[in-house]
Amino acid sequence: MTERTIGKQPRQLYLLFFAEMWERFSFYGMKALLIAYMVTELKFDEPKSYGILGAYSALVYTMPMLGGMLADRFLGYRRAVIYGGILMTIGHLVLALPQEWSFFYGMAFIICGNGFFKPNISSLVGTLYEENDPRRDSGFSLFYMGINIGAALGGLLCGYVGQRINWHYGFGLAGIFMVLGLIVFAIGQKSLGHRGLPPNLTALKKRTAGITNEQLIYVASLLIIPVVVALFNRHEIMDYFMAVLGAVAITYVLWEAFRMEAAARNKLIAALFMIVFSILFWAFYEQNAGSLNLFAMRNVDMHVMGTELPALSVNNFLPPGWVVIMSFFFAWLWTWLAKRKMEPATPVKFGFAFVLMAIGFLVFYLACLNAESGLISLFAFAMGYMFIIAGELCLSPIGLSMVTKLSPVRMVAVMMGIWFFASAGGEFLAGKIGKMMSVPEAVQNNAVASLPYYATILKEIAIASAIAGALILLLSPLVKKW
Ligand code: GLN
Repeated sequence: MTERTIGKQPRQLYLLFFAEMWERFSFYGMKALLIAYMVTELKFDEPKSYGILGAYSALVYTMPMLGGMLADRFLGYRRAVIYGGILMTIGHLVLALPQEWSFFYGMAFIICGNGFFKPNISSLVGTLYEENDPRRDSGFSLFYMGINIGAALGGLLCGYVGQRINWHYGFGLAGIFMVLGLIVFAIGQKSLGHRGLPPNLTALKKRTAGITNEQLIYVASLLIIPVVVALFNRHEIMDYFMAVLGAVAITYVLWEAFRMEAAARNKLIAALFMIVFSILFWAFYEQNAGSLNLFAMRNVDMHVMGTELPALSVNNFLPPGWVVIMSFFFAWLWTWLAKRKMEPATPVKFGFAFVLMAIGFLVFYLACLNAESGLISLFAFAMGYMFIIAGELCLSPIGLSMVTKLSPVRMVAVMMGIWFFASAGGEFLAGKIGKMMSVPEAVQNNAVASLPYYATILKEIAIASAIAGALILLLSPLVKKW
């Protein structure tokens, strides 16, 4: 049977592209507001705000392990995406309510919803291709572009509405676009045919004590919400939670690896090595959603041609905006190098990712050294991000395809969950690094006085990132052999 295509890609890719684009619009639109909302509106102190942001972002990327597993075994990807979308919509709309209780509950719904939505829409992309279909990688790149178009628009619009008009309108706007993503998916999903349907519908519809197993999954997953809210209120428990889960994940992969024959084992260990390093990458990278939001508000000169741009829009538009622009360049670069048999191996790309990020943070730091007024130029800010995002493009999309290539088939879904869990670990550490950049209340509105709180740590991130990059490049021949 011949499939209908748009361009070279299966036409269903565009359904997933737009559904994910609007979902990421809402996800990043909301995240753009989070830290500034806590500090300026809820009047939480800064260390507490970074702790909550770290806990939220860590849980958001922990839940895909559970959501991916439930979809693989029971729900199928499509039902999981729809249910996740509904929970995320509820979460955004709850956040739009100007009530104190709504803050933690709104985030808890989004965390739970993202667990069902995010891994499974990515897995759906995978179902569009036969095992050796050469279009798979470019399909994933296009999908990654959709993610970032959504993120750029979300950051831009929600950042503006939240910062300049009303925080809750900003959250509400994010919710509206989540509904749009859900509608796109619900209407278009028929075109997916048999893909993403539940693996065993009879088992799913089986009734126990009056309710079907499917309903049981939905109800049981709602019980996670109060647990998450409790974790927010005692977020020091998160340290143990993340450490234990991390140890379990690493032990699990090693346990599986050592039961395999040498070739498969080495591949899995190589994947694990890169996943562990990616934790550090996200820990630095995710300053974007935390400390750099406040830095942009306090220490970046947002004046362009006589108008002052809203800092939250700028800070949250720049990274995904650079991804969209530079994706074209990197797609060209990798093919150009591949044609000349010079394409760097994955560990080398990971090493470059850290080196580029080090340069980006160095640009921020050097700009701070020259900012007598306490403000760095928008140009330097945008350039710093350009290097950081070049780093992202050497790691994030490459990591996704590495996971599908190096893991044995039966472990792909779990390994995808673990890949996202590395982001969770990184986000959690990002909150801790952010805390080190807390500015005392007395000088929060004084650019000259607040600048040093950022500059020192920005420099240390640059150094740490350069060391990590050098280490990976040094070890890369060994990892390549594995
Ligand atoms: N920005 C990408 C996305 O939203 C990658 C996120 C991550 O893995 N931490 O999908």
